[in-house]
This record gives sequence, structure tokens and C-alpha cells, in this order.
Amino acid sequence: MEIFRDFTFDAAHAIEGLPDGHKCKNMHGHTYRLTVYLTGGLDPKIGWILDFADLKKLVWAACLDHLDHKNLNEVEDMGSPTCENITLWIWNRLKPELPGLTRITVREGENSGCTYNGD
Ligand SMILES: [Zn+2]
Repeated sequence: MEIFRDFTFDAAHAIEGLPDGHKCKNMHGHTYRLTVYLTGGLDPKIGWILDFADLKKLVWAACLDHLDHKNLNEVEDMGSPTCENITLWIWNRLKPELPGLTRITVREGENSGCTYNGD
């Protein structure tokens, strides 16, 4: 069994190293959608893996407070703020806090995204 929770955050980035004329070279913004997937045993008294409210607090404190309405090019340890590196950055901060984390998905807009499970 796996539970998940969706989050959204808004942020700006510019991707360096692209050829002149590539639109992603210019500073621009996205509404990102993060989905966090967790597994674990059910609490025998309550019948849940984790309180969704606790998950929300943890994900905001560990990650999204540092990304929401920020310039991702200035986020420490991010490197080039591609969707892939944003996903890795979030994973590296969440996994120590959430041992049951199984995968995360970061969507950059409606149609594109990255999924990571630690491999
Ligand atoms: Zn972009």
C-alpha cells in the first residue's frame, strides 16, 4: 500500500548552457506540482500510515518553504534548476525525514515532469 499527497509551488528559473534563442534560457516561472509517495505499516489504532497533515507540514518545512516564490537558480545545492535536479534536491531533503518515501514526481506545468525513486 502506498499513500500520496500533492503539493503545488510557484518558482522561477533560467537554464544556463542552452543555445541562444532557446526559450528556457530566459528567466521564467512555472507552477510546479509535487507528488510524494510513501509506504509503511498501518498504525494499528488509527489505521493510517501517516497523518496527511503531518506530511504536509514536513514537506513544506523541509522543501517547499525554500522553493516557493523563489529563484531556483539561487537555491543552495540545487545546481542547474532543471526539473530533474529539482526532483533530486527534494528527494535528498525528504528521504532522511521520511524513511518510507518510495518515489516523488515533480511536474513542471501540465504536461512534463520527472519521477525519482532513489535509483
Ligand atoms: Zn522552465
